[in-house]
Amino acid sequence: MSTTDSKSPRNFIADSLERVPPSGIREFFDIVSQMPDIISLGVGEPDFVTPWHIREASIFALEKGATGYTSNYGLPKLRNKVAEYLESDYSLHYNPEDEVLITVGVSEALDLAIRAITNPGDEIIYHEPCYVSYRPLIEFAHGVPVVIETLEKDDFRMTPEQLEAAITPKTKAVMLNFPNNPTGGALRPQDVEAIAEIVKKHDLLVITDEIYTELTYEGIHVSIASLPGMKERCIFLHGFSKALAMTGFRIGYACAPKVILDAMHKIHQYTMLCAPILSQEAALEALKHPQKDIAEMKASYQQRRNFLIASMKEMGIPMFSPGGAFYIFPNISQFGLSSRDFALRFLEEKKVACVPGTAFGACGEGFIRCSYATSLEELKEAMRLLGEFINELKQAQAGVA
Ligand code: PLP
Repeated sequence: MSTTDSKSPRNFIADSLERVPPSGIREFFDIVSQMPDIISLGVGEPDFVTPWHIREASIFALEKGATGYTSNYGLPKLRNKVAEYLESDYSLHYNPEDEVLITVGVSEALDLAIRAITNPGDEIIYHEPCYVSYRPLIEFAHGVPVVIETLEKDDFRMTPEQLEAAITPKTKAVMLNFPNNPTGGALRPQDVEAIAEIVKKHDLLVITDEIYTELTYEGIHVSIASLPGMKERCIFLHGFSKALAMTGFRIGYACAPKVILDAMHKIHQYTMLCAPILSQEAALEALKHPQKDIAEMKASYQQRRNFLIASMKEMGIPMFSPGGAFYIFPNISQFGLSSRDFALRFLEEKKVACVPGTAFGACGEGFIRCSYATSLEELKEAMRLLGEFINELKQAQAGVA
């Protein structure tokens, strides 16, 4: 055997990847996947199947032989429909020809947005607790993540004061996600206006992930991109996964002024080429009359949300009333366990899966995320088991004292 053969290979993995820890959610779900018969309040995915007429549109398209690539930007008829929808429901005005890009979920759109604007060392502000991909995506793009911790006492809103304090001469952009995963926090119109003023004052860009917008239960949602002077400095991201129960179709979109969209498109055309045509056909159908489908699912989420708010109150677990999305983020710090231990023991002892708040950032310590994209029957059973679990914890605490 030659000496070259016996050498073990060097570490081929990029440093930027080594720095990023594996997702806290994944770690937890690896454990969950080994356990049969659990009630899962863990996944951030609708329990509804995509409405039939949307699935059918995709099947029809397949029957008609729609099996090829589309324009890199996405089907023109879908881009037109997206622009119409945003105009009528969000007061947003985007030109479907060069300001709308159809992507593989909001996931791809987030990656494109961050990569298109980030030079090494640029600071990108985002808020935690937040969706698990934000920080890694900034790091993959060699940006510097700057975190603002949203607090329970502020209803998990990012306050204008926090934003002002986080800005430095290196700040390039601010990422927003309201209604928020994992807290359900939403911004009030006055918060959005104040944030927009700060963004303009410091000449920043906003990446606004509005994937949960239709699932707003309290107050009205105002997109920051719709405010005067903000379209020019916003990348608006939206998709079909949540409010239309289309996670498996992997379809979303990004809207931005042409110059920014061109840059995102450049990455998209070389990396993804285009979103799958059958998913684009399904998305087109979904946008024909989205209000009815959304209203039905939203009414069900709202009923579950109200049930969970009442249950937590009854059990004496402090929890802010979430303004949107399909998550609650109760404060479990009184039970003397870390978020991870609480979630692990609840899973092991009662077979109910929730996600430790720390999976969404260090400041999620003391909280767990429970998704109510689960049937009311399962939620009722989960709350009964939670009641048992916390009583046992309290008894154990009293025994120790
Ligand atoms: N943004 C947020 C805030 C999310 O919660 C999720 C999924 O959970 C995504 C983006 C990804 O969505 P998509 O399925 O469109 O890629």
